[in-house]
Amino acid sequence: MRYLDEFSNPESARRLIEEIRAVTTRRWSIMEVCGGQTHSIIRHGIDQLLPDRIEMIHGPGCPVCVTPLEIIDKALEIAARPGVIFCSFGDMLRVPGSERDLFRVKSEGGDVRVVYSPLDALTIAAQNPDRQVVFFGIGFETTAPANAMTVYQARKRGIENFSLLVSHVLVPPAIAAIMESPQCRVQGFLAAGHVCSVMGTEEYPPLAEKYRVPMVVTGFEPLDILEGIRRTVLQLEQGRHEVENAYPRAVRAEGNAAAKAMLADVFEVTDRGWRGIGTIPRSGWRLAPRYRHYDAEQRFAVGDLHTEESTVCRSGEVLQGLIKPNECAAFGTTCTPRNPLGATMVSSEGACAAYYLYRRLDLPAEVAHA
Ligand code: SF4
Repeated sequence: MRYLDEFSNPESARRLIEEIRAVTTRRWSIMEVCGGQTHSIIRHGIDQLLPDRIEMIHGPGCPVCVTPLEIIDKALEIAARPGVIFCSFGDMLRVPGSERDLFRVKSEGGDVRVVYSPLDALTIAAQNPDRQVVFFGIGFETTAPANAMTVYQARKRGIENFSLLVSHVLVPPAIAAIMESPQCRVQGFLAAGHVCSVMGTEEYPPLAEKYRVPMVVTGFEPLDILEGIRRTVLQLEQGRHEVENAYPRAVRAEGNAAAKAMLADVFEVTDRGWRGIGTIPRSGWRLAPRYRHYDAEQRFAVGDLHTEESTVCRSGEVLQGLIKPNECAAFGTTCTPRNPLGATMVSSEGACAAYYLYRRLDLPAEVAHA
């Protein structure tokens, strides 16, 4: 199958691993930003095939995982209201809020529906003019264009009973926050290919220059990831810190002009809270003033909610790459995908779920023997 088999070829993978081995002379820590890349790395055992001197650090690029508890609680509050149809992608339904999740709201009588596109929610709104229909719009630059388009369409079609609960976050400010952390060990980045397919690569050279880190735009298949790692290691070994595009079949430097225009029309940049990390200035989007009428937070006046993070869950440290999931005491015992304590165990892109799913149940040797 084109674009799958050809990027999973074992012979090519072996060759890339040999090339990485040949150029590696020192210890390097490389962060893959995206949760999809984390799953691919763990699923294919790529981190175990690399030279011992290369450590892959899993980054915060899982949209479900970084959605703040406060927003989850607001979603639960809105979804429980009479007359509301609350629409979401399926993976948000099991994310724990302070006291319950959307599945619980649904079991208690809330009209919570799984949709496959925000435009499905708009259709539901058009079909139910006497109900308020809310779509839970979370995620990075990848999911934002479709949500922007939906709000644009709602306005154009005059569908007033639709609103968006927005929690969109941006990758470049998160990279800056990671690099500013005193505990940061990251020396190079695999930038998320799908984010760059929307936004292009123009935001990255200033970051690479400021923090003197190589940034290689990387795809998601095994050979994509190995090529991203190979190029990053080569830069590190040669003392370079440049932005390279190792995913040219999907990414152009200028990105997707139509998607960017839609984003610029519907959203404006704002400070955003990241679950487990805290507030990062100018790290997200909210609806621009002319679309604010479609903001579910305003429409339902869900202002000051009291939120309570689990005292056990260490997903904030996982999301910043400070610990591996199996270093959390709850991992695989009290926290499993069936009974998740944190979003990183719920999401199909979460690092904890990846470690559980692909049986990385043992502690790393250096932690186990500490
Ligand atoms: S294993 Fe569970 S409790 Fe531990 S950090 Fe991951 S999600 Fe949180």
